[in-house]
Amino acid sequence: MTKKDKIRVRIAPSPTGPLHLGTAKTALFNYLFAQKHKGKFILRIEDTDKERSKPEHEKDIIDNLKWLGLDWDEEPIKQSGRTDIYKKHIKKLLDSKQAFWCYHSKEDLEAEKNEQMASGLAPKHHCSHFDKKPRQGKDGIIRFRCPAEKIVFDDLVRGKLEFEGELLGDISIAKDENTPLYQIAAVVDDADMKISHVIRGEDHISNTPKQILLQKALSLPIPKYAHLPLILGPDKTKLSKRHGAVSISWYKEQGYLPQAIINFAAFLGWNPGTTKEIYTMDELIKEFSLERVQKGGAIFNISRLDWLNGYYIRKMDLDKLTKLCLPFLPKADFDYLKKIVGLEQERMKKLSEIGELTEYFFKDELDYDKELLIWKKMSLEEVKKSLQITAETLEKAHKFEQKSLE
Ligand code: GLU
Repeated sequence: MTKKDKIRVRIAPSPTGPLHLGTAKTALFNYLFAQKHKGKFILRIEDTDKERSKPEHEKDIIDNLKWLGLDWDEEPIKQSGRTDIYKKHIKKLLDSKQAFWCYHSKEDLEAEKNEQMASGLAPKHHCSHFDKKPRQGKDGIIRFRCPAEKIVFDDLVRGKLEFEGELLGDISIAKDENTPLYQIAAVVDDADMKISHVIRGEDHISNTPKQILLQKALSLPIPKYAHLPLILGPDKTKLSKRHGAVSISWYKEQGYLPQAIINFAAFLGWNPGTTKEIYTMDELIKEFSLERVQKGGAIFNISRLDWLNGYYIRKMDLDKLTKLCLPFLPKADFDYLKKIVGLEQERMKKLSEIGELTEYFFKDELDYDKELLIWKKMSLEEVKKSLQITAETLEKAHKFEQKSLE
């Protein structure tokens, strides 16, 4: 195996919602990194949360990653099918007394958290007891005791980061031996999948020291970490539904093209340091580097996406564009539709606009507000006269056109 073959990265979505722009961006950065270094890009479905994980979301994530062209290299990993593997590791931690059963109620934990916060401390939970086995008839959770040591890692985007294990508290790793939680499942999988670089959103930074401690406790290799900046709305808070749609399906339904979304997403936290604005996937692969990923949040600006989409629409072959516009148009002869789409190709920003832009071709009577016909301060009499002149002019033009065609 050459050194280059060893680069293995993953996108690890939880199917608790559809694919959103943030995950698509993370997937793109992982994909570009893998392609650039001739490594592997792998999909892992993190469906340990049985209540919130839904098959329709999994389908949406898979379909939309493919639609964006972010295909993976190996058979995807699905956590729900790997319970026995996690169980072995959970047992190992329990047996070696690095993990234990905790029976504090939600209310106890909430009260503890409020008390800590009121005294200006970062919330953490630490148990003084130690139970290796579940207590009969009692609901509990398995926790890993974070050792009181300093955790230091070199984040490939943010530089050296340091954490105190003592401040992390005892972290929950499983509801029981057969029901792992995120931290343990992610750590075991990253090792099993031989992940060399974990490239993920900055919202996971606080998970990294916990995962490094778990890797050490289980004698697993520690991958390199790179935390990407979050996408921020125009008000500089984390992009969310509040700012409008965030799901890739919505962009698709609006008639945004995958090439435009890819170009748009690539610049959310990265830039090549040139003035060139449009990149093919191959060019992105060539230019991409983690060194050029910025630390600060990436501001979301939909007018840039509109501009990029308009660019790709203008460049598109008319036949292909018309086909893509079909869902947004009434049923009609394809060649006729092609002429109509051709008229709007220059100014369309997204495919969904075509219906409204061309509705006058399909309606016998248009329901316009008559106020729209009044130009500046014209009187109704003047408007009538101007419409008559327009009708006569068009009539002449029509005759002229027919004559020249004869
Ligand atoms: N499942 C996590 C998410 O969807 C990703 C975890 C990770 O990348 O480690 O945010």
